[in-house]
Amino acid sequence: MSERRRVVVVGAGITGLTAAFTLATQRPDLDIVVLEASERVGGKILTTSFAGRPVDCGADAFLARVPEAIDLCRELGLDTILTSPAQKSAFVWVNGGLHRLPAGLVLGVPTDLDALAASGIVSADGIVRAAQDLTRTEWIDSANGADPNGDDDQSVGQLIRARLGDEVHEKLVSPLLSGVNAGDADHLSLAAGAAQIAVAARRSPSLITALRDQLASAKTDPELPVFRGIPVGTQTLTDLLLARITQIDIPVHLSCPVSAITRDGSGWTLATPLGAIAAEEIILATPARPTARLLESLAPQPAADLANLDYASAAMVTLAVSKNSLGVPLDASGFLVAQTDPLPTLTACSWASAKWSHLDDPEVAILRVSAGKFGDTHALDLDDSSLVDALSLDLATTMGIETPPIEWRVTRWIHALPQYRTGHPARVAAWREDVSAEAPGIHLAGAAYDGLGLPACIRQGRQAAAAIV
Ligand SMILES: Cc1cc2nc3c(=O)[nH]c(=O)nc-3n(C[C@H](O)[C@H](O)[C@H](O)COP(=O)(O)OP(=O)(O)OC[C@H]3O[C@@H](n4cnc5c(N)ncnc54)[C@H](O)[C@@H]3O)c2cc1C
Repeated sequence: MSERRRVVVVGAGITGLTAAFTLATQRPDLDIVVLEASERVGGKILTTSFAGRPVDCGADAFLARVPEAIDLCRELGLDTILTSPAQKSAFVWVNGGLHRLPAGLVLGVPTDLDALAASGIVSADGIVRAAQDLTRTEWIDSANGADPNGDDDQSVGQLIRARLGDEVHEKLVSPLLSGVNAGDADHLSLAAGAAQIAVAARRSPSLITALRDQLASAKTDPELPVFRGIPVGTQTLTDLLLARITQIDIPVHLSCPVSAITRDGSGWTLATPLGAIAAEEIILATPARPTARLLESLAPQPAADLANLDYASAAMVTLAVSKNSLGVPLDASGFLVAQTDPLPTLTACSWASAKWSHLDDPEVAILRVSAGKFGDTHALDLDDSSLVDALSLDLATTMGIETPPIEWRVTRWIHALPQYRTGHPARVAAWREDVSAEAPGIHLAGAAYDGLGLPACIRQGRQAAAAIV
């Protein structure tokens, strides 16, 4: 082993690269090595050229009201080129048509019932049911098995259905949150998947009142964009991290899966195609299943739980269509699909060339269409051209597009989106505690744990590095 203390980062997605970059800049005395199973870095972040433009196959935006991604972009010199969506509003496919989402939604929860009524999304009965929330003076969530004043978690569906009714949940909250993780909001942990709502729900028996108060007291400028994007592609972020890491002579080994970790005195030995690599500390920035395999004999309980963490698979199909073929104006960022009105294959559609001005073209519209969700793999079972045909039928139904796409690209993300079930944050805390007791020096970070959005992954990469620094 080298004289210097060695840290091995396993997995070169955004989490692992951020951890390695942070360690490299803060602790030049460490011997840092990055090992990545695939032949490229970036993990779930991938940008390729499509219709002559850099179009993301996965993540295309990140939350701007939390600092982590913006700060990292600044550190990498990317902040000056960041852009915001050109379109702020979006539609939902519901009641057999596209309806613009009303103003005042917080993760799909309405705070302006007049705007909700005017949107035509929720029936008159549904509005009356949602309005009951405003006059509520007693907590009702205990009826759903959760103590709203305590730390107990519950599912997003349990809370929203109880407080605002089924319609608001199925037509607004569920499509918005399911769009994030291709999951089912009836089984999504409120604490892990919608923390802002969880906080509001503990403040007042009326969720609408609590969210209104939250909005009024928020220090953020309402004009600030909610999301930011990188016009040359999100992959620029991971490419730049790689460039900065390798510039400072940190080796990043590609096609180098770690197949086992064994105890070696007070440190660890990693089995890799390069041979055995010794390390004092390891950051496992890998998805739950490979992490479970690596921890199997070292920390059996977290390993067993991680092996059982559900993941959704999804396809991202990018289409270029003639603007002449559009049956609707592209005056929003795209549309979601209400739980009440499922389409045969399409689960969401981003109007990428309307959302991002750098993807706009006078003649061609670029659409990023999602298919597949947890528990429903029929879209993923289709071959590429059958999948495009199936989605084209849904685009004819929703957007009136009757002509075939000029160009298409299918990206399959298999077991890519972790599903945070009720109680997830407490389980994550227990895994970390067990691993630190049973396998000291091994750190867990990444989308499986404390948030799957890019800022949350960056934060976890920073925290894993900080634990070593
Ligand atoms: C289709 C899609 C769209 C998304 N859109 C957005 C969005 O718009 N905004 C947003 O904020 N988030 C979005 N996300 C979520 C976000 O992209 C991911 O959660 C995040 O990139 C995960 O990063 P990670 O580093 O934790 O994991 P990963 O990217 O999964 O990286 C883990 C790495 O570990 C490697 N690995 C696995 N096993 C081993 C092993 N044994 N040895 C060595 N290496 C190993 C893998 O090859 C991989 O490179 C999206 C995700 C998907 C799938």
